[in-house]
Amino acid sequence: MSAIEIDGSQGEGGGQVLRTSLTLSMISGQPFRMANIRARRAKPGLMRQHLVAVQAAARVSDAAVTGAEVGSQALTFVPGPIKSGDYEFAIGTAGSCTLVLQTILPALLHGDAASTVRITGGTHNPMAPPVQFLQRAYCPLMRAMGAEIDIDMLRAGFYPAGGGVVRATVKPCGKLRPLELISRGKYVSGYAERIVAGVSPSVARRELECIGAAMRWDGPQLRECVLPAEQGPGNAVLITLEYEHATEVVVAFSEKKVGAEDVAKAALREARRYVASNAAVGEHLADQIMLPLALAGAGRYSVAKVSQHARTNADIIARFLPVRISFEDGDNCAMCSVAPST
Ligand code: AMP
Repeated sequence: MSAIEIDGSQGEGGGQVLRTSLTLSMISGQPFRMANIRARRAKPGLMRQHLVAVQAAARVSDAAVTGAEVGSQALTFVPGPIKSGDYEFAIGTAGSCTLVLQTILPALLHGDAASTVRITGGTHNPMAPPVQFLQRAYCPLMRAMGAEIDIDMLRAGFYPAGGGVVRATVKPCGKLRPLELISRGKYVSGYAERIVAGVSPSVARRELECIGAAMRWDGPQLRECVLPAEQGPGNAVLITLEYEHATEVVVAFSEKKVGAEDVAKAALREARRYVASNAAVGEHLADQIMLPLALAGAGRYSVAKVSQHARTNADIIARFLPVRISFEDGDNCAMCSVAPST
């Protein structure tokens, strides 16, 4: 079988081009060759997180790989059969555990037995889904499509220290079921939480107070999770909005020279953007749920904003699977549709 040629600089030109190619190569059995890996990022090529995604995909599918080293901007990947098993991977930096997990979980659904995956690295990183996003937003939609995936955070790992541990269990389910997610349904509950380790509790508490005042939340809607100092330093603020058919989780991180109020405002801005749209699915979930939907072969969802990540992912997915992914403007949101390409 000849390899699919992928230009890693296309569209968003980041790690998702690589991860989607790895996942779909494993599942479809089609080899690929990629040039210009992460060409649109400040540090192009494979960083530790991407390298571990390649290594994990290679272990799970017994793949033959060339170019798998830090900094590499070209890769070939020739997959073999998917093997269920108990896997452990260490990123070795604060690189995102959740992004490595998302690379191999859909493939393990096609194994012949249950698998477990344990990954050490970052659990709360800027520019990646926090573990709670996978647990509350991504996994419920996967379950609605027939995939039994459970994710536990055994230890937090913040950028730049890392050292977090995430464990996933996944049962094979074969082909996923199509999903229609047009309306988010009725509001069920909302809450904010701060997850801190090795940071003065009083600083982080101000963030919760700010969110509480803006959302009119108090008591159990403002949750503090103070972790042992050795899991830090780290300070993440999450807002979770649960609706009947979908959940959105937004995150903001405290950084040097950024005040507590500004961190709270950043999380509030994103939460409000989602609430103000009529969409079921937030901007980030929209690009992540597209691949499972394409594996199901059909489906539709309303999305708050069609990002460059979403458009790029649609193009990459269509290189591996016989689907057509389209976006249509709707009433204060857009609609993403996946249909067979014939
Ligand atoms: P890339 O930049 O190509 O490595 O892709 C990053 C991935 O992380 C995309 O799937 C984004 O949707 C996802 N992502 C980035 N930030 C967040 C966030 N705050 N919450 C959830 N997912 C995120």
